[in-house]
Amino acid sequence: MHPVLGERLRTDFSHLLASPTLMFFTPTGWEALLRRIFRHSPHLVFTRAEQGIRRDGAFLAVYPQGASLQDPHPFAREESTLVCKWCGEDARLAFPSQRRLRNTRLAIPLCRECRDQGAANSPTFVWGDREEYH
Ligand SMILES: [Zn+2]
Repeated sequence: MHPVLGERLRTDFSHLLASPTLMFFTPTGWEALLRRIFRHSPHLVFTRAEQGIRRDGAFLAVYPQGASLQDPHPFAREESTLVCKWCGEDARLAFPSQRRLRNTRLAIPLCRECRDQGAANSPTFVWGDREEYH
């Protein structure tokens, strides 16, 4: 996460964070999502936030105090597939366009602009729609 955004989160939600480095490994685009999660669960103290990988793609794994690593906050897990991990806009899961990388575990939530911008680089991402796989 960009250091300025991380510092603002630490300032605004210090009472919910067990550690000041909680969101160090969280992508910048999920800053707004963390704010939503913290507002959604203002009675919890969070111990860890990171990018998780599941069978159908990347997600934001946030752990309230006492939760095991197999039990991330369910609201964060579901909402993170709808928020661009690069910029925070509305997103959908995008998949690597190269056939050899087309493992759903490599899918990440991207908005159209970030997906198109990524097309200038390699590997590029495509939507999960079957017609865009060809
Ligand atoms: Zn984006």
